[in-house]
Amino acid sequence: MIDAPRILTALVATTTLAFAEDKPKHPIGYQDTPVIPGTKWHVHDGERPQPTVVTPGEKLGDAPSDAIVLFDGKDLSKWRNAKGEDAKWKVENGYAEVAPRTGDIFTKDEFGPDFQLHLEFATPNPPSGDSQGRGNSGCFLFGKYEIQILDSYQNPTYADGGATAIYGYMPPRVNASRPPGQWQTYDILAEGPRFEDGKLEKPLVVTVLHNGVVTQNHTALIGETPHKQVGTYHAHPEKGPLKLQDHGNPMRFRNIWIREIHMPGADEIGEGPKIGK
Ligand code: MG
Repeated sequence: MIDAPRILTALVATTTLAFAEDKPKHPIGYQDTPVIPGTKWHVHDGERPQPTVVTPGEKLGDAPSDAIVLFDGKDLSKWRNAKGEDAKWKVENGYAEVAPRTGDIFTKDEFGPDFQLHLEFATPNPPSGDSQGRGNSGCFLFGKYEIQILDSYQNPTYADGGATAIYGYMPPRVNASRPPGQWQTYDILAEGPRFEDGKLEKPLVVTVLHNGVVTQNHTALIGETPHKQVGTYHAHPEKGPLKLQDHGNPMRFRNIWIREIHMPGADEIGEGPKIGK
């Protein structure tokens, strides 16, 4: 039975507490401390804006409160194919499965320039094929730059084509792959490339955790990620779609979410203070 008075009391208590937290009894911080170089803030400045409150997911990997959920296991309504039509991949049992040769899928929305992306995938079990033919997909940032998705569990292939490789450029630092059929996670932190007047100002920089293990650490890309060629940059807008690759294998995906992020201090510190000057 619903206990209305008790709920009301709890609500009032919560509101009062929240109000109390907003207005501390004593001033917080200092104004008589040195200014932090590159900023307008004093050390421990009480006036410095508070971080936005975000409620984390219940367990690690769950979407936090401010994430944009791109796939929650129910439908691919946030995705399209290359022609702009509905994504043709199969959705069942809480996951999406590549329907081989129906094509890559793209998010309808575009993201950037900086973001945090979480996705989960499982490679086919039992596995079939070998090297690049086994459990191959890919997550293309801005629709152009491939973070390789591959069944790299006891499956030798060229190093710059393994799971979490920047395809054709940078191998993962380590191989943190789980066996076929098991769910695996990618957490990708991307600082998008900046172009000015069609020229590259700042490359795409990517950090990747594979199953919680760092496999790319602030890797600056030399360009796009073509097959059998050295990639170069071609100017594009600061936002772009995400693309998941149909490489002919029935890969499974679930729990995909993204948060556009504001890099800490990017607006005020930029490249950082000049140490010692
Ligand atoms: Mg691939």
